[in-house]
Amino acid sequence: MCGIVGYVGYQNAVDVLIDGLRHLEYRGYDSSGVALYNGGKINVYKAQGKLQNLVDELKKQDPSEIKSNAGIGHIRWATHGVPNQINAHPQTCNCGGLTLVHNGIIENYAELKTELENAGCKFKSQTDTEVAAHLIAYEYAKTKDLISALKNAVKKLKGAWAFCVMHKNEPDCIVATRKNAPLLIGVGENENFLASDIPAIIKYTKKAIYLNDDQITKITKDKIEIYNPDLTLSQNKVEFLPFEPMALSKMGYKHYMLKEIHEQPDVVRNILQDKIFDEISDIKLKDVKLTKEEIKNIKRIQIIACGTSLHAGLVGKYVMEELTGIPVDVEASSEYIYRSTIADKNTLVIGISQSGETADTITAIRQVKEKGAHVLIITNRNESMLARLSDSLLHVNAGIEVSVAATKSYIAQLISIYLLAIFIAENLGKEKSILNNIKHELLLLPSKLEAILSNASHIRDVAKKYSGYKNFIFIARGINYPTALEGALKLKEISYINATGYPAGELKHGPIAMLDETMPVLAILNEGRVYDKVMSNCEEAYARQAKLIGVANYIDDKHKQLFDDYILIPEILDMVSPALNVTVLQLLAYYIAEYLGKDVDQPRNLAKSVTVE
Ligand code: GLU
Repeated sequence: MCGIVGYVGYQNAVDVLIDGLRHLEYRGYDSSGVALYNGGKINVYKAQGKLQNLVDELKKQDPSEIKSNAGIGHIRWATHGVPNQINAHPQTCNCGGLTLVHNGIIENYAELKTELENAGCKFKSQTDTEVAAHLIAYEYAKTKDLISALKNAVKKLKGAWAFCVMHKNEPDCIVATRKNAPLLIGVGENENFLASDIPAIIKYTKKAIYLNDDQITKITKDKIEIYNPDLTLSQNKVEFLPFEPMALSKMGYKHYMLKEIHEQPDVVRNILQDKIFDEISDIKLKDVKLTKEEIKNIKRIQIIACGTSLHAGLVGKYVMEELTGIPVDVEASSEYIYRSTIADKNTLVIGISQSGETADTITAIRQVKEKGAHVLIITNRNESMLARLSDSLLHVNAGIEVSVAATKSYIAQLISIYLLAIFIAENLGKEKSILNNIKHELLLLPSKLEAILSNASHIRDVAKKYSGYKNFIFIARGINYPTALEGALKLKEISYINATGYPAGELKHGPIAMLDETMPVLAILNEGRVYDKVMSNCEEAYARQAKLIGVANYIDDKHKQLFDDYILIPEILDMVSPALNVTVLQLLAYYIAEYLGKDVDQPRNLAKSVTVE
């Protein structure tokens, strides 16, 4: 959450910072600010609301004041203090000589604030961050050296942080550090960068250095120094960034979300490419380091994730248990971390996170590593913290996802889970014909996804018809129950309509009390094990005058009249159907939100990469 950019170089810093922040807007967007080094002083500009407000503010300034070759910028997702101009970053010390931007939470800020107030500091904001500005300035007053001031100050902090700091007495340089929050250094020619994430810098450089926790860096336009916590110099390796700036364009679509949904057939092709060759050959997962022997010894699988990734994990439970026979538990990371950690060397722990930076999941994974479990990470970012903590890795390779609501990364996670389940089952010597059948279906998936996308105008019509309702229930059973949860989440996230996902069989145990003609029920039906049961639940909803929408690969003639509307998907094996059904639900949510005029790519209160607990 929140995005940080730092720049020192030959270009006009403010342009690079604003451009960088624009590419980090998915991380937060309630306020923003920049600090610019300008002839022995640092000028700070901040604005509440979207980044455009800051751009407008900067336009009003005297150009000579904002001209600078060094600066830091921030786009905020507030944790402490309302999103207003005062609480926006950069935050400054008393005299304004030191200024910083921060991503994370200072957990002991209240105690430190009292101590600093007693020492004479005057606080202007309600943020936890301002404590760090005063504390580093206080340390700087003693040493007159920004690196040791930062080192001494962070020793007193608890929590998580990435800081970029500037001081008026240290011209044209930025000093930065991190702990449990992302920060990378972009290596340029006659310019260097700092950023929370790659999109901020990819236009300028494809070379990056990742900072380890507690390392401190000082960048100038032609030098990057990295220090270990004991201030010895470190040589971190320079890595190549595998992204194209192209990935950050909407390519003619109205929103990134729509573009990313339309990328799904290619995303699936991409993942399958070097892993499934045909339906009879065994799956190859080169970064899964489990030996046959280790796989045989797995007694239990735990899947840990948050949000949309958690729903992918729930699909994983059905798939893995069915194909491997190993019991699987799925848990929200934020719950997992505050119980006894029951895992050992015979436990396979699968962490799923689009960004690979989800704070709760990182904490959970650290806990299970201590217990000796094998950690397998499914992520879209193979340079992320979770990837670096993993023993085995499944890089979902979906390309940068800009829209805050996850779509293509979810499909990519699902496919990775199918591949992993088949891989484990093959190593356990499970019945080949079942596994080959699923591989066959996976290979056909891209063209079936294309068939759904070519039917988008029908889905848009249905969306329009239901966009006025204030509440929805999504029901399904079995492997599509998580699809119901994900469909409801998508609708909530981008349209702010109250939507609940429910196991269809549970409707009669409570939620049925809410049903009447004002409550549409969306039912996911697939020919297979639970079709008749879900249909009976549709009958129950129909009998209570609920509007019924079906998403199905088949509806028998006897039951068609139950449905006010239905959307048919191509024939598909029940086990692989979540990937198709969810695409319909993503489009439905998209078109409802778009019809209601919502800010689809940047829904209120959300941020894409959740780096705070
Ligand atoms: N805790 C800081 C604030 O509320 C930073 C939040 C963030 O990382 O987004 O201002």
